[in-house]
Amino acid sequence: MDNVSKKYCLDLTEEELLQWCLDNGYPRFRAGQIMKWLTSGVTDTSKMTNIPASMRQQLESDFSFSRMKIIDEFISEIDGTRKLVYLLPDGNIIETVIMRYKTGLSVCISSQAGCKMGCTFCASAKAGFGRSLTAGEMAAQVLMSSEHIGEKIRTVVVMGIGEPFDNFENLITFIKLMNDPDGVNMGARHITVSTCGIVPKIKEFTAMKLQVNLAISLHAPNDELRRELMPVASAYSITELIKACREYVDVTGRRITFEYSLFNEVNDTFACAEQLSTLLKGLNCHVNLIAANEFPSSPYKRSAPGRVQAFKKALESRGVNATLRREMGTDIMAACGQLRRGIEEDMRKEV
Ligand code: SF4
Repeated sequence: MDNVSKKYCLDLTEEELLQWCLDNGYPRFRAGQIMKWLTSGVTDTSKMTNIPASMRQQLESDFSFSRMKIIDEFISEIDGTRKLVYLLPDGNIIETVIMRYKTGLSVCISSQAGCKMGCTFCASAKAGFGRSLTAGEMAAQVLMSSEHIGEKIRTVVVMGIGEPFDNFENLITFIKLMNDPDGVNMGARHITVSTCGIVPKIKEFTAMKLQVNLAISLHAPNDELRRELMPVASAYSITELIKACREYVDVTGRRITFEYSLFNEVNDTFACAEQLSTLLKGLNCHVNLIAANEFPSSPYKRSAPGRVQAFKKALESRGVNATLRREMGTDIMAACGQLRRGIEEDMRKEV
């Protein structure tokens, strides 16, 4: 079997490993040993020192252990943010961004190779859709980042390439894998999932009552402007979206975050700030304002610093919590999908 058709080792459940052990005449406890290696980030079977060599050989021939290859790395000279570029065996390319904060390392992972959502300001949308990632491929981004840097990852944000709620089942498996006390053992509160606003999935997520943080990419305070920026807004109105967010806060008791990228003279007007504060009135939420990253063919320009400050002030004076997020790795195109797109364009030029 080639590497593409073999099951990826990080997509194996302990039950599957157990069955494999039994089918191949190995004792049951070997399944737990292998699982322990995998969830601590060891996918090189030669390092699984407590597993007999013949068994390691058989594992290698039955499953894929080297699915993800780091093919490039970019390190920001401004703030040390790193971007890892991975090649998947089927030729898809994904990116992971590693950011250092005072509290520790944070990894922004991709949930899909490309994205179907078509946001007009996003480089990932322009590069098209490849496929959804498996839970193991999402986990590998965290584990391989940790191994690459030689440091434990403190927080994970599912905010890279792709729409995580368009890959819901694998996302939930991934979260459980991260949470597993016998595995990675990362607290749910250290994980943030960001969606462009797929309302039925927000409801499903709410009903699961996970302690994971939820962020909504809002970017506009009304349907008309939101539809212009994000086609998903044609499927779900802003009223429906905010209603689902209020339900999430009521049911989980958790605060919700709204991401709002500021585009010059598009969504950064005083009227937009007023509308946004009315929309979010009484909701336990936080607004992250980001002066939008620009990429070469983007139709939008980043908001001027004065407009950004005025927008923040207008929200705060109306009782809305807002923070201006600093952009990380602007010199290495760290915003979602920018690099993937650049690489694919280069590849196309070479063909
Ligand atoms: S902003 Fe997010 S949801 Fe929208 S196209 Fe880009 S990756 Fe997809």
